[in-house]
Amino acid sequence: MNAKELYNLNNETGEYKPTGVYYCTNCNHVGYTKEIAEQCCTPTLCKCGKEVKKYWTVCEECSSRITKQRELKKFNDNHKYTNEEYDDEIFIDDDFYENIEYYLEYIYEDNPENTIEDIYAYTAIHEKYSVNVDNVLEIINEWVTDDMEDPELVELNGFDELREALEKFNNAQTGYVIRVNEKEGVLYTKEFLEKLIKEIK
Ligand SMILES: [Zn+2]
Ligand SMILES: [Zn+2]
Repeated sequence: MNAKELYNLNNETGEYKPTGVYYCTNCNHVGYTKEIAEQCCTPTLCKCGKEVKKYWTVCEECSSRITKQRELKKFNDNHKYTNEEYDDEIFIDDDFYENIEYYLEYIYEDNPENTIEDIYAYTAIHEKYSVNVDNVLEIINEWVTDDMEDPELVELNGFDELREALEKFNNAQTGYVIRVNEKEGVLYTKEFLEKLIKEIK
């Protein structure tokens, strides 16, 4: 809405000539065309009609609604257990809990007035700690060849031995990492949770 054309002053004749270049009178940014200068400080509108933050294409509300829909679809595609069918380690909103009772105790400890809704959780898997052997070999190969004058002319040796050593290293590990298993969704319904809460309280 704020585009204005730039003019060139001819020092000899004192005449002003239009340049075909426009700028935004609000912030003085120059746009190459009138359209670009017009849009400069004009807020973009979301499909729902609300104003959009700078550099965004949808408003925050629509964006969080779209994210929720996407997450729900992902959950429904992987829904495996419901309520008492699963009482073990879970992830809820990327946070780990020993089981659903621990989660409920956790949320009601500070805020006993919390209202409850259906909970979409995922099961947890224990993965033995290991390094990705192929990745490590690739990185080492890159380090070494980066330092060489003519990497094509040199053949690196010892990769088979290194692979074997790394595999031994992996086999020696006893520690594990706990990861979310997004292939196994667990639905805890409001009704089921309300019963559980009564037991906990
Ligand atoms: Zn502007
Ligand atoms: Zn919107």
